[in-house]
Amino acid sequence: RAKERGKNNFQFYTADMNARAIERLKMEYSLHRALAQNELEVWYQPKVELSSGRIIGAEALLRWRHPDMGLISPAQFIPIAEESSLITSIGEWVLDSSCAAIRRWRDAGLLQGRIAVNVSGRQLKYSSIVDTVACMLERYALPSSALELEITESVAMDEDSGMVEVLHRLQALGIYLSIDDFGTGYSSLSYLKRLPVRGLKIDQSFIMDLHQDRDDAAITQAIISIARSLGLDLVAEGVELDEQRRFLVEQGCHCGQGYLFSKPVPADAFEALLRAQQV
Ligand code: C2E
Ligand code: MG
Ligand code: MG
Ligand code: MG
Repeated sequence: RAKERGKNNFQFYTADMNARAIERLKMEYSLHRALAQNELEVWYQPKVELSSGRIIGAEALLRWRHPDMGLISPAQFIPIAEESSLITSIGEWVLDSSCAAIRRWRDAGLLQGRIAVNVSGRQLKYSSIVDTVACMLERYALPSSALELEITESVAMDEDSGMVEVLHRLQALGIYLSIDDFGTGYSSLSYLKRLPVRGLKIDQSFIMDLHQDRDDAAITQAIISIARSLGLDLVAEGVELDEQRRFLVEQGCHCGQGYLFSKPVPADAFEALLRAQQV
């Protein structure tokens, strides 16, 4: 009987695997369509000066408005895009859309700061991201200082020499590079010496309970002191409470983003926030 059960489990398992493989294929197929039919949108979340709440820039965050499923989070489809070459086309589209928006906001005198775009490991390894970035800056007549690229810590720790070279070429272009989700993956900080990085983003998992968890508070203080010693800028992610904001300011972290200030919003709504700040 055990044997029989084992066999049934096995069949169940393969059926489940097939179902998942089919799900992924469907998702990949509809992502192709999404790109072709303009179902993707870039939303923006303000980065602010924590003492005043003044907007100093923004992070561009991808959204997929699926005709049947509604708004889909990038956490659900970026990993699938990363498994195929789709991530390259999607990445180019996000850069194009973001640079077009930066151009509009600069022309309107609304934005001086940078807009940060997320890039995945695969984009840095297998695509011509340096050429793409150079091309976008030229297309929209933007200085390289208008753009920031965020790479996650897990990607930064990868010692792939091709990727390290790509990061140096982006830095040579004048692009500001920062480490996203900092503190979640490190076993060694030596990559910070190897990479031309200018800023760190403290992962939101430390900020979340900062005001009530001594370990999270201690880790955040340690990250702030690492950044200070190495001369790196800091942004705290996921600031939701005023207590968290106050702690960060007291400890010397002056920039942040989070629901306390604004959720990510569509481009029009971000523009309205910039306008409101002008008056
Ligand atoms: P991330 O780059 O670390 O972005 C921060 C995430 O935290 C965003 O989730 C944002 O909406 C969320 N967030 C911001 N403030 C708060 C807060 O106060 N509380 C909470 N609970 N969450 C907050 P989102 O937009 O769902 O993006 C998830 C991840 O998907 C991003 O993490 C990034 O790694 C990836 N991603 C987004 N857009 C792109 C893209 O264009 N290209 C690539 N390669 N990855 C992207
Ligand atoms: Mg990010
Ligand atoms: Mg992050
Ligand atoms: Mg993240």
